[in-house]
Amino acid sequence: MKIPFVTFRPLEHELDKELRGAFETVYNNSWYIEGQEDEKFEKAYAEYCGMPYCVGCGNGLDALVLALKALGIGEGDEVIVPSNTYIATALAVTYTGAQVVFVEPDIRTYNINPLLIEAAITDKTKAIMPVHLYGQPCDMDPIMEIANRRGLKVIEDCAQAHGALYKGRKIGTFGIASGFSFYPGKNLGALGDAGATITSDKDVADKIRAYGNYGSDYKYHHIYKGNNSRLDEMQAAFLSAKLPHLDRMNECRRAIADKYLKGINNPEVILPYVPDYALPVWHIFAVRSSRRDELEKFLNEAGIGTNKHYPIPMHLQGAYKDLGFKEGDFPLAEEISRTELSLPLFYGMTDEEINYVIDKINEFK
Ligand SMILES: *Cc1c(COP(=O)(O)O)cnc(C)c1O
Repeated sequence: MKIPFVTFRPLEHELDKELRGAFETVYNNSWYIEGQEDEKFEKAYAEYCGMPYCVGCGNGLDALVLALKALGIGEGDEVIVPSNTYIATALAVTYTGAQVVFVEPDIRTYNINPLLIEAAITDKTKAIMPVHLYGQPCDMDPIMEIANRRGLKVIEDCAQAHGALYKGRKIGTFGIASGFSFYPGKNLGALGDAGATITSDKDVADKIRAYGNYGSDYKYHHIYKGNNSRLDEMQAAFLSAKLPHLDRMNECRRAIADKYLKGINNPEVILPYVPDYALPVWHIFAVRSSRRDELEKFLNEAGIGTNKHYPIPMHLQGAYKDLGFKEGDFPLAEEISRTELSLPLFYGMTDEEINYVIDKINEFK
């Protein structure tokens, strides 16, 4: 049996008519940037998240950069980010001219450990960027408590967690602004690159929109040295077609994860831990094993696609050589990099496929 790590086919098959219809609508309108589809999706997504404002942009990285810039974060500032995340979180900070400060995760949840945040705060700290990694909500109450007490902004990186709940409340609604990616493989994916920032603050929303459109508040009037990062009409229309199915797709992911959690039973494999406060959306089903590379080879040879999120921690990447970190500086991030393996999990995965993955993992000795 061959099981890909991810495929979009089952959903595309189901939504074939809607997606082709979305293309036709935009093509028939012959209007491709900043139009009614953009507006329609932003409104629907803000409503879905339960935030007053949503501003679309070109990708998830820009969603974070624009939020940070709109909040006035830049040179001379420090921003706290988890030591184990996709590099986009840190790069967003770096692009504004601010310094990243890495904080280690809780080894059970793989999310930033709130108990370690306070020690990383200095006079220069302006913000905390929790990442709801793998679709698992961060422990937001203690993070918000620290941020409020120390006067820090919270910007949530929600790129992997569309629709996840923390104590019954949607992630992305805790901080002042939150960034989402609609990269095709994300829980809500466009048919290309796309992203959005949601915020509770009108002024921040206006700034984000201006920064993403050449710093322009109205046509040919430029108040900031802005960027070009807009959500195009075509992607907005595809996203509007998919959004009504997001909760159902996440429900499907949870059902697959439940089967993995119940079925996988191998002393060589550490399963994900779900705290009581969390309703995760399983962007990634991350297991860990001290024999990860052997397990990966074993599964790949059995026809099962796998992935690693992420094989090299950020502090050891060439891109961050200038920070002067060495191996051993962030042992938990390094441990996760060394041991994490991501199993196939996608909307439309069949029971036969799920059971095959479970059986193969349980066979691994
Ligand atoms: C995907 C991702 C991003 C960036 O999104 P793009 O749309 O690829 O720019 C940011 N943060 C995290 C945690 C991600 O997984």
